[in-house]
Amino acid sequence: MFANYQEALNDYAYALSVKIPPGIRVFNKIADFRSWRRQLLLDRQTLGYVPTMGALHQGHLALVTAAKQQCDHVALTIFVNPAQFAPNEDLASYPRTLQSDLDQLAALGPHVASAVLVPQVQEMYPTGIELDVSKQKGAFVEVKGLSHQLEGITRPHFFRGVATVVTKFLNIVQPEHVYFGQKDIQQCFVIRRMLQDLHVPVQMHICPTIREEDGLAMSSRNTYLSPTQRTHALCLSKALQTMEKMYRDGVRHAPTLISAAKDVIETTQRQVETLGQDWQVKLDYVNVNSPHDLSEIRDEITDGAIMSLAVFVGKTRLIDNIVVDVSLDS
Ligand code: AMP
Repeated sequence: MFANYQEALNDYAYALSVKIPPGIRVFNKIADFRSWRRQLLLDRQTLGYVPTMGALHQGHLALVTAAKQQCDHVALTIFVNPAQFAPNEDLASYPRTLQSDLDQLAALGPHVASAVLVPQVQEMYPTGIELDVSKQKGAFVEVKGLSHQLEGITRPHFFRGVATVVTKFLNIVQPEHVYFGQKDIQQCFVIRRMLQDLHVPVQMHICPTIREEDGLAMSSRNTYLSPTQRTHALCLSKALQTMEKMYRDGVRHAPTLISAAKDVIETTQRQVETLGQDWQVKLDYVNVNSPHDLSEIRDEITDGAIMSLAVFVGKTRLIDNIVVDVSLDS
């Protein structure tokens, strides 16, 4: 989308060029959003908040719908947060589809999404933001103990960027309720711990993963996939379905479940290669973790589990997970 990182930082002009559908307030300045929010408070109206990076799909819209069921108003933020991208990642090319995002929100019906804040990078990071963590200046939020494993191995500074931007947005939006997707399960754990530890006065809700009909978890990054890669990507949900079925059938030994998942991926690879196609999937991890502290379960599952995996399909990194015997209600 953008040729380089500097251009991506200046996408404010792009935000200003959209046609705003009737019924939705779109704010580019934090102060303007705050005035709107203050009036809701004076009118004793509750606010639910959905943080996003845009390129909205049914997964995001399900969060908005859930929020509207509990709150008088729903606000979203659309912000591709530089702090959660490493220098070698896809900040510049991340899909930016603001017009379609606003149209999809409008199509949910009148008075579902009330407001969208699309802030500038410069306003969100007044001290500036470098992708190289060693060069960064200013205030950042870290959640120790839940950020280094799973996603944190390949993306060591990712959750620091997420926790920082969510803190900033919660200070700006000041919602009564905030909504996240189970699709990013580790993110949910990190944010939940952050809200508890920092005494942030908001109620968090985790909503189920929305999938395509064939099982692929919806993701803004799915748009990067070629039609062939899209079929290869099905190995994520297939592997998780196999693990879940085995668990339901009584298998509790985590390494057995993990090797079954790897078998599914290898079998899919063989099928694809038989068709003469290049297999484009590289497994990053498949893990079984404790729902209490995200520690790795290396033996028997005794008290529920999170089963998750990450793969590269070509250059696109995809993640997915299921939980078994875990309640995600806050
Ligand atoms: P993102 O725009 O990718 O940062 O995602 C914004 C929010 O939408 C996060 O809370 C995600 O977990 C959630 N989300 C993304 N994909 C899905 C999905 N397929 N189902 C449910 N929630 C999702």
